[in-house]
Amino acid sequence: MRHRVISNRVTAGMLTWMFSCNCVQRTAFLLLLALAIGIGPVTKLQAQSRSRGITTGPDVPAVKIEYSALLDDSCSQSTNRPLDADLVAHVAAMLQVYRAQWAARGPELLRTESEVAGQPFAYHEAFPAIITCDLPSISFPLILNARLFRAGRAAGSEPGEMAVFVNVLWHEMSHRFVHDIRDRFPGRMTPLLSKYSTEPPVVINHLHLYAIEQLVYRRLGMQQDLEFMRTIQRQPRHAAVFERAQEIVAKEGAEAFVQELRTAPPSRDSSNK
Ligand SMILES: [Zn+2]
Repeated sequence: MRHRVISNRVTAGMLTWMFSCNCVQRTAFLLLLALAIGIGPVTKLQAQSRSRGITTGPDVPAVKIEYSALLDDSCSQSTNRPLDADLVAHVAAMLQVYRAQWAARGPELLRTESEVAGQPFAYHEAFPAIITCDLPSISFPLILNARLFRAGRAAGSEPGEMAVFVNVLWHEMSHRFVHDIRDRFPGRMTPLLSKYSTEPPVVINHLHLYAIEQLVYRRLGMQQDLEFMRTIQRQPRHAAVFERAQEIVAKEGAEAFVQELRTAPPSRDSSNK
């Protein structure tokens, strides 16, 4: 079944992406709230991002990064867990640094990703909302949890935090990139995905992404950032499934996965470009 990434048909795609990041135990309230926060302001922000010329390029999505106090507060209230005031203040203080880091490194990562996969991005803008509450980073709506940034800072000072921030944002955007390409395959399956179809969905949904990541970071000479990111990712409770996905990519070879994306059937909907 095909799913196009447009706001009035988000449900199936959202679920796929969210499950890909271990978001299974989230409430319907938070889903709906996240949709409201993540999608509602798009039209207004599109005009703003264009007028400000924010980290845009001819072939990769423009990115507008904000802290979402509304989502963070609502999440805190719904889970009955107070926000970490220090982390909220840190995010506010670092917001311009995050934007500058993305402007310096993000577009090149996305351009290289498009080159490596041999495919264009099917979406043109992204509006990541940074939060600090008990909701994970997810790709659609695009939400980044700053707790992982803090883990990066704890392990590697500000450069560590920035490596994690850039990777998390790139990672979540790349879920959507891969999702859009998979939409073009019958049943959203490739030969390698069929081979590993008994693996958990979260493993399946990271195979092509990790393969692209490996090739992109290598081409840009950013392997150190990736290695650092791996040390941070070993800490979360779901690290085992990510390690399993890495194991499969290593076994088959990153090139094999990426080659499948290069040979994706053409999109049947030119408006999706
Ligand atoms: Zn993921």
